[in-house]
Amino acid sequence: MCEKVLYEELTPGEFRSRLANAPIAYLPLGTLEWHGEHLPLGSDGIQSQGFFVELAQQVGGIVLPMLFLGPDRADTVQEEFYGMDLYGFPAGRPQQLAGSAYWVSDDLFKQILRAILKQLKRARFRIVVAHGHGPSTRLFQDHIEEWSELFGLELFTCWREDESDGLGIQTDHAAANEVSLMMALRPELVQMENLSQDPEQWRSGGRQLPRWKWSPVSLRPVSIP
Ligand SMILES: [Zn+2]
Repeated sequence: MCEKVLYEELTPGEFRSRLANAPIAYLPLGTLEWHGEHLPLGSDGIQSQGFFVELAQQVGGIVLPMLFLGPDRADTVQEEFYGMDLYGFPAGRPQQLAGSAYWVSDDLFKQILRAILKQLKRARFRIVVAHGHGPSTRLFQDHIEEWSELFGLELFTCWREDESDGLGIQTDHAAANEVSLMMALRPELVQMENLSQDPEQWRSGGRQLPRWKWSPVSLRPVSIP
């Protein structure tokens, strides 16, 4: 039988025992965000949580509930657009993509993360690993030094300092990497039949971001007029 690793499912006794074995908290940085027509809206959190559950079962630690609020690029072109809204899929201009409901400002997200870290420190964790949605992970990564010192915690993402893909988890948006992870973790949630037979039509758009690689197969830049 698999060990219980989800924070919300543990009794205090199970919590104490897991914490004593490995004082590690895993924080899945999710969104509720359009991920093409073929992936579920919670793809980011589902992938992070799925990976962390496997990790916790192998090396110990406790997996927190996934966050669904996160920062992203934002712009106002008559109305507010966030993240992938701005990349012009499929109409060639910014548009509100179906199902996206996650955006908070960087400042608010920092406050949320600081509040979580304070609580995790108080609960006697010593290591926190956070990973998932690109902009959320980047913000966490950018504050590792500051927050390690502030809270007395060891903090990690699954990226590497050298800006390589690190562990290769969630390195694109709704493309080969994320689809592969979703197919491995929750195949019943992937609907590849919703994609056109013609890969040329698979444009999700996107620019090269630091520490991110877009899949050359399914993502190509779209210019926004
Ligand atoms: Zn994603």
